[in-house]
Amino acid sequence: MSNPLLQEFNTPYGTAPFEQIKNEHYQPAFEQAIKKAKEEIDEITNNSEAPTFENTIKALDFSGHTLSRISSIFFNLNSAETNDEMQKIAQEVSPILTAFSNDVSLNEELFKRVKAIYEQRDSLDLTIEEQTLLEKKYKGFSRNGANLNNDKKEELRKIDTELSKLSLTFGENVLAETQNYELHISNEKDLSGLPEGAIEDAAQTAKDKNKEGWVFTLDFPSYIPFLTYADNRSLRKEMAIAAGKKGFQDNKNNNEKIVLRIVELRCKRAQLLGYKSHAHFVLEERMAESADKVTNFLENMLQKAKPKALEQYNQLKDFARKKDGIEDFQKWDGAYYSEKLKQELFDFDEEILKPYFQLENVINGSFEIAKRLYGLHFKEVNNIEKYHKDVKTYEVTDEKGNFIAVYYADFHPRPGKRNGAWKTGYKSQWILDGENSRPHISIVCNFTKPTASKPSLLTFNEVTTLFHEFGHALHGMLANTTYPSLSGTSVSWDFVELPSQVMENWCFEKEALELFAKHYKTGEIIPIELIQKIKKASNFLEGLQTLRQLSFGLLDMAWHGQSPDSFDSGNVTKSVKEFEKEAFKSTQLYPDVAENCMSTAFSHIFQGGYSAGYYSYKWAEVLDADAFEYFKETGIFNKETATKFKDFVLSQGGTQKPMELYKQFRGHEPKPDALLKRAGLL
Ligand SMILES: [Zn+2]
Repeated sequence: MSNPLLQEFNTPYGTAPFEQIKNEHYQPAFEQAIKKAKEEIDEITNNSEAPTFENTIKALDFSGHTLSRISSIFFNLNSAETNDEMQKIAQEVSPILTAFSNDVSLNEELFKRVKAIYEQRDSLDLTIEEQTLLEKKYKGFSRNGANLNNDKKEELRKIDTELSKLSLTFGENVLAETQNYELHISNEKDLSGLPEGAIEDAAQTAKDKNKEGWVFTLDFPSYIPFLTYADNRSLRKEMAIAAGKKGFQDNKNNNEKIVLRIVELRCKRAQLLGYKSHAHFVLEERMAESADKVTNFLENMLQKAKPKALEQYNQLKDFARKKDGIEDFQKWDGAYYSEKLKQELFDFDEEILKPYFQLENVINGSFEIAKRLYGLHFKEVNNIEKYHKDVKTYEVTDEKGNFIAVYYADFHPRPGKRNGAWKTGYKSQWILDGENSRPHISIVCNFTKPTASKPSLLTFNEVTTLFHEFGHALHGMLANTTYPSLSGTSVSWDFVELPSQVMENWCFEKEALELFAKHYKTGEIIPIELIQKIKKASNFLEGLQTLRQLSFGLLDMAWHGQSPDSFDSGNVTKSVKEFEKEAFKSTQLYPDVAENCMSTAFSHIFQGGYSAGYYSYKWAEVLDADAFEYFKETGIFNKETATKFKDFVLSQGGTQKPMELYKQFRGHEPKPDALLKRAGLL
């Protein structure tokens, strides 16, 4: 039998032939595709002609096409529709894929050709997109040490190997510390205040562990409700302190030495490559571009947000004193009294919103908004193969009826789908030989399912999530670039959330909600008072939230924005806790807890890839608020503004520096004021 993954896809629009693919097809398909990709690379390096943009850079960007299609099908399904067998295949093919990509990035012959072109770049008369692509390809090698001599290359490999082991151990330690703790409750009185669902989950956890009563753990779905609702203050304290000392206890899971070593090695690596610090290395390829810019951004936000944050902190403290006579307000009181205060001020149950947000109406609402803004039409079609019967498939066209994209939407949870919501794709967009090859984009969510008696009614949070992912999807669907690696959402980290977050703003606007927020039984449009309540509740204690985010961003920059040699006094480098206290000085409101430490469990920056990147969360909010402000100034359905956003942001992918794109759309660099206003902080 022939392998459908290795044939031309003989399907409408060349979509993935999901219904013909069997698990046994993947492994041989990967092997064949890697072989083919290697041959394509060899063809480039063996070319006897002098290197040109065309025969090297372009050829490289269009190489490995079969491999990337197979990878996207396999890894997307491994997230959305997996099983034991798929996971086993993933374990087997992942190292092979890593080895292949290392082969390419360490290929000296290939680098020689890329470098030769890079060095003549000023005389080549390249378009902006071509210049960007050339720079990206060159940096892909140079940032990986291609310009170093053999000794230094060897040193770099050693650092990389040690770093990857350290992050792994860091993560394992955090996980072990999370799992080693449990709060076992046998007296029902101690459950006071907790919602029914949290109590049921805790009873189930106890049962799973062969215990009587209820067990709460440091996993978020267990921990967060406990800190938010449990009336028993001393148990809240116990939980909070247990959570805060992950990786900071005198046991084998201690992460202090690991943190210091990671910071040291990252800086060494950056300096080996000619950068001042790890942050300088990372930020070179981001919209923010420099460590100074990020630090200034965080400091500036802090200055503006702090007065309101302080006011809200005092409000919360007063509330706790008046309500329960709390004289020494602590961090384990924060979430609890926030929730109580919120109830008192808003008296607003999220459940009353759900009847206005039937899934089908919300989907149609998102389509109607995309039509008004970008002239897009979505038509549900049944001729495209699906990987699960619940997946919806659409053909997307523009005003003139031209085909724009295929859109897959997969809304409900089921076994084999991971949690959360995300946008992905099965094929990117590019232009080759004058033909614009359109993308296949998908969103995957885990929304409330319909029941026998009720359609799927979304929480407001699910509504904004749908708009968020739809915004990412539009970024993919409207892509209009020549080179696949620059297309759609292939942009820097601190820019990629602009299209998604900006879409969420329409969910708060009367003019937009009127299009789709209709009661599923009566058809009544959502009342304006409810819209106002949604807005107010979304800003509740936003100052405190902002301060918290800024504190993490500043801590991240403190660890990564300077060389460890320059860390103030001698003992600071030896004590993670002291260093952290110093970095937190301007942002901490709650009294410090001596046995707690944030850095030793800060997985975002020491395990995952967010080092020198935590600021991106706030940065992206500033961008989306500033961008939406423009829509508000001109009308939220203003065609001219929307066209600018499409032309300079959505269709451009990573073809230019993001700041340049943004300025062309907005007329100036993003300003934080729109966000501060929206969050009620100005
Ligand atoms: Zn997102």
